[in-house]
Amino acid sequence: MADEVTMDTLFGNFGVEIKSASVVENSRVAVEWSDGSATSLYPMLMLRDCCPCEKCFNPVVNSRLILFEHLLESSCSVSQLSYETDCVNIEWLDGHQSVYSTEWLYRRRLEREAIEKRLESVYTAVVDTPWTGSTPSEIIKSAKYDEILSDPQKVVEFTECMIKDGVFVIREAPDRHCLVEFLKTIGAKHQGTHYGDSEWVIKNIPTSKDLPNSSKKLELHIDMPYLAKPQQLQLLHCLIQSEDGGENKLSDALKAALILKEKKPDYYRLLSTVEVDFQFIKKYKENNTGSSVTEPLSYKKILKLDSLLFVEAWFEAFRYYWKILESNAIFIKSQPGDILAFNNGRVMHAREAFNSQQARQLEGVYAEWDYLLSAWRMAKVKLSKQVANGHC
Ligand SMILES: [Zn+2]
Repeated sequence: MADEVTMDTLFGNFGVEIKSASVVENSRVAVEWSDGSATSLYPMLMLRDCCPCEKCFNPVVNSRLILFEHLLESSCSVSQLSYETDCVNIEWLDGHQSVYSTEWLYRRRLEREAIEKRLESVYTAVVDTPWTGSTPSEIIKSAKYDEILSDPQKVVEFTECMIKDGVFVIREAPDRHCLVEFLKTIGAKHQGTHYGDSEWVIKNIPTSKDLPNSSKKLELHIDMPYLAKPQQLQLLHCLIQSEDGGENKLSDALKAALILKEKKPDYYRLLSTVEVDFQFIKKYKENNTGSSVTEPLSYKKILKLDSLLFVEAWFEAFRYYWKILESNAIFIKSQPGDILAFNNGRVMHAREAFNSQQARQLEGVYAEWDYLLSAWRMAKVKLSKQVANGHC
């Protein structure tokens, strides 16, 4: 369990002792610290609920064993309390005994500052921030594929850029089929769909009726809005790029929404409150299955509105929003070896038309925030261990 990730891992060395502990107001335990920190108060119910003894908690699998039926009033009152410099001992009214180490208590202090520090070790302080730059180089950060795989600091940067900007470019990736492995290696995970469970391919097939596999222009869009839970992150690996055209257009829907809110609050209210239902439509065939993609696809928007006037107003608002998206879009042309990673729920993507006689091929996968944030936490732990071992 040496590499176990816990909220305690990132706090560094621990040298604080308990000066005193006592029951206050019949429902709380107060602890005074040797380092001069403010006296900490803990609700008795919380202490009983989080009892670390082996009847209540299994440390091998980090799992609670205590049941809620053990948290009745009669069980959650302190009968006796004693303390030493390194622990607080509590005997509860029902006879159950709990021992809380100094470290355990100190790291679960409920003072605002302590809570914030604890949250920093679990959640990044970075938040999604609308684009302020107007060119790709001002907006999109990048790193080499091998750097991200070998340097946890680069995993942290990659993840934080994905959160803040919603977009990142990974350069110099291997030839093909590397996306699933890449995510796995950094501690994240790809997400399969009805298109398959590994990398899917977008390529120029001149005879294809399927728009993505043609050389035609693709409008700004997000992928799979028709799913109950649309794909969260997308990685597009450029294998072959057409010589003429084929640029990707990207636009920050968050930035556009804030501009809309400022300029046309009524439109903003309409678009942000009216639910639009997208449907995935496939011609019926006896052998259709969830993974069969044998027919040209089409998408249909269903507006859950109940009047002609409302539908007209919605389309007016949507057209205005679309103009903002277009006028704030940037263009980038991926080169073979580039992986364009973006937040599918925020950064809308499009493709310019290209010469239908030229080859163009991409591979893609989807991924989820939970696993990327897990990779971020793993990388933070590795970095803190490097600092502790004097590697930095
Ligand atoms: Zn216990």
